[in-house]
Amino acid sequence: MGRSEAQQRIEELKAVLWENSRKYYVDNAPTMSDMEYDFLMHELEDLENRYPEYRTPDSPTQRVGSDIDVPIGPNAETQARHEFRKFPHRYPMLSLGNTYNIGEVEEFADRAEKTIGGSFSYCCELKFDGTAICLTYKSGKLQRALTRGDGVYGDDVTENALRIKSIPPVLKGSGYPDEFEIRGEVLMPYESFDRLNREREDNEEQPFANPRNAASGSLKLLDPEEVSRRGLICTLYHIPSDNVSFETHDEALRAAESWGLPISDKRKICNNIEEIEDFISYWDTERRKLPFATDGIVIKINEMTYQRLLGYTAKSPRWAVAYKFKAEEALTRVLSIDYQVGRTGAVTPVANLDPVLLAGTVVKRATLNNADFMKDLDIRIGDWAYVIKGGEIIPKIIGIEESKRTPGTIEPVFPKVCPDCGRELVRPEGEAKWFCPNTDGCPTQIKGKLVHFLGRKAMNIIAGDATVEQMYNLGLVRTPADFYDLSKGQLMMMEGWKERSAERFLSSIADSKKVTFDHVLFAIGIRYVGEQTAKDLAKHFGSIDAIASATKEELLEVPDVGEVIAESIIAYFNDTVHQAEIERLRASGVQLSMEKTDQTASDALKGAIIVISGNFSIPRDEMKALIEKHGGKNSSSISSKTTYLLAGSKPGPEKIKKAAELAVKVISEEDFIEMIPDKEPAAKQTYKQGEQLSLF
Ligand code: NAD
Repeated sequence: MGRSEAQQRIEELKAVLWENSRKYYVDNAPTMSDMEYDFLMHELEDLENRYPEYRTPDSPTQRVGSDIDVPIGPNAETQARHEFRKFPHRYPMLSLGNTYNIGEVEEFADRAEKTIGGSFSYCCELKFDGTAICLTYKSGKLQRALTRGDGVYGDDVTENALRIKSIPPVLKGSGYPDEFEIRGEVLMPYESFDRLNREREDNEEQPFANPRNAASGSLKLLDPEEVSRRGLICTLYHIPSDNVSFETHDEALRAAESWGLPISDKRKICNNIEEIEDFISYWDTERRKLPFATDGIVIKINEMTYQRLLGYTAKSPRWAVAYKFKAEEALTRVLSIDYQVGRTGAVTPVANLDPVLLAGTVVKRATLNNADFMKDLDIRIGDWAYVIKGGEIIPKIIGIEESKRTPGTIEPVFPKVCPDCGRELVRPEGEAKWFCPNTDGCPTQIKGKLVHFLGRKAMNIIAGDATVEQMYNLGLVRTPADFYDLSKGQLMMMEGWKERSAERFLSSIADSKKVTFDHVLFAIGIRYVGEQTAKDLAKHFGSIDAIASATKEELLEVPDVGEVIAESIIAYFNDTVHQAEIERLRASGVQLSMEKTDQTASDALKGAIIVISGNFSIPRDEMKALIEKHGGKNSSSISSKTTYLLAGSKPGPEKIKKAAELAVKVISEEDFIEMIPDKEPAAKQTYKQGEQLSLF
C-alpha cells in the first residue's frame, strides 16, 4: 500500500470507528460485531505504526471510547444529550489492550519477563462483559459512583448504583482506607436481560442488542426505581488508589472481599504461559454455564511494584492484556427463507432455523442481509449454517458448512416482486437492498408507518402492532391522520375492545396533540429523517411550512443534513398525497411548529457567532440554549465569521487549530460566564476547577 492510499485508508478507518464507537457507547445500539470492530482498530493501529505522521491525537487508537457526548468524530457537535453531573476521575479510567490471538498473549508475557527480569506471577480473571463503574468509599460509605465516561470525566450515577443489590452502601470489617476507589463492572445477567427484552417487545420498544448494552443503558436511566427493577449485578476487580499498600493485586481483591465488596472468585494466580493458556481454554467452554456474559480473560501482572514499573500507554495499562473469545457461533439447519418488507419498503431475507442455543438464548431466525450476500454464500434451503449474534438484535448467518450439504437442498429465489403487494421490486443506485416502490400502497409499509407514527419516540400513542393490524384490516386507518378521525363507536367494533379501552385510546390520541413538533416531524416518517435529524430540522426551521418550502441549499445548512436527506425531504413535500396528509394533521390539531417562547434573557451576546467544543459543567445542549438565550448564535464549524470558540475540557484539537489559523478568539467557560448577566446559575461549576488529574 502506497503512502497516499495508507492516508486515505486511515481516514476511512477513523470515520468508521468513530461512528461505531458512538453507536456502541452513546446509543447502546451497535450495528457491528465487536470482533469486526476490533479487527478494524488493529488495522488502524498497524497503519499508524507504519505511518506515524498520520496518527492524530483524536484517533480512536489514542483515546478510550466515550459514553458521554465529548466530540467523537466529525459530527460531534450534534451529540448533546447527557443528563448526569460529571466529575473527574481521580485516576483516568482506561481501556485494555486486547487480542484474539494466543500468540500475542505469549508476546505480552515475553515482554513482561524482559522488563521485570526477576520472578513474578499473573492474576488471570474473567473479562466481564458489562459496563465499567468506579466506586469511591469514604469513611466506609459509598460516596460516589461514576461511569467511565470519556476516561477523564464520568457520569455521576451514585443514585442508581445504590439500587444495585451487590453494591454495599456501607462497608463491613475493618482496615479499609478512609477514602479509596474501587473499579469493576455492572452486568445484566441473562435472566434479567431476557425478561427486560420481553417487556420491551410487549411495550413496542426496541429490545437491547445484548446484555452489555442493556447494562450500560440501565445504569444511565434517570429513574433510580426503574434501575432497581432491572436486576443488575456488580463485580469489582481493581483498586487504583495509591493510598492503599498491597503487595499484590490478588491481596487487594481479598481485602476488598473482606470489606463486603463483590469480588469474583473465578480468578487464578498463574506462574507461566502454560498455566495462563489452561485457564483460558477452561473458561472458553465453562463460561457458557455462567449466568452472565463474559467476553474473554484478563491477564494482569500480580505484583504491584511490577505494575508500576510497566506503567501505562495513553489508552491502556502495559501490565495487563485481554484475551478475547471469538463470538460464540452455532451450527444449525436452514428450514426456509422469508422475505420481509420493512417500513421503508426494503426487502430483507430472513432464514427460519432449527432452534439452537446461542450465547444464552434460543435462536430461531437469522438475517441474510440482502440478495448479494445470499448469492456470495451460495446458501440453499436445507443447508447447515453458522449463526452468530453480531451487534444487531437479530442474529446473522455468517457462513454455511458445505461438507454437511445433502442432496435435495433447494436454491432460494430472491423475489422479483413485493411478497406483500406484488409490485415489481427496484434496486436504487448505491443501495444493497431491493425495495418495494409502492410506498403509500403496500400494506406492510403502510402498517409499518402507522406503527412508527404511534411509537414512544414519535406521537407516543398507546397501541400495539396487533391493534394497528386490526384497525387496518377493518379499514379504519390507512394514514396517520385517520387515527384522529376514529370515533368511540368505531373503536368498540374491534375485537376485545370495550368502552374503557376505546376511551383510553382516544385520550392517548388527545394527548398526542401536545407532542412537540420535532416528534411529529419524526413520526410522519420522511425517509432518512431520524429522531436527531428531526430535532435539528425543527429547531432550525421552526415549522413544517418552513421545511416544506426550504430549498436544498437551505436544508443543507442544518447539521448532519447531507444531499441524500435534503433530496428525500424535498421529494416528500412535493408529493400531493403527503401535502394532503399534512393538512389533515393540521386540522386535527397536531403541533406543526415549535412553540414560540420568548427566551431571550439578555442581548449580551447579540451578534456573536459561537462554536462550542469539549465538555462543560452543564450539558452541551444546555450550553447552546444559554448562548441563544442571551442573543448569540450557535454554529458547528469555525469560519472567519465565528466570533468565539468556547472551549470546555477536551476541546477538539482540529477546532483549536482552525481557531488559531483564523484568529478566532478562544474563550473558556469561566470567560463565558463573565459575559452573561447574573452569572447564569445553570453554568455554575459542578466540579472543582483546576483539580489535578494524575496518571499514577
Ligand atoms: P474492552 O471492553 O475490550 O476492555 C476493557 C474493559 O474491560 C475495561 O474498561 C473494563 O470495563 C472491562 N473489564 C471486564 N472485566 C475486567 C477485569 N477482570 N479486569 C479489568 N477490566 C475488566 O474495552 P473498552 O475500551 O471498554 O471497549 C472497547 C471494546 O468495545 C472494543 O474492543 C470492542 O470490542 C467494543 N466496541 C464495539 C463496538 C461495536 O460497534 N461493536 C464499538 C466500540 C467498541
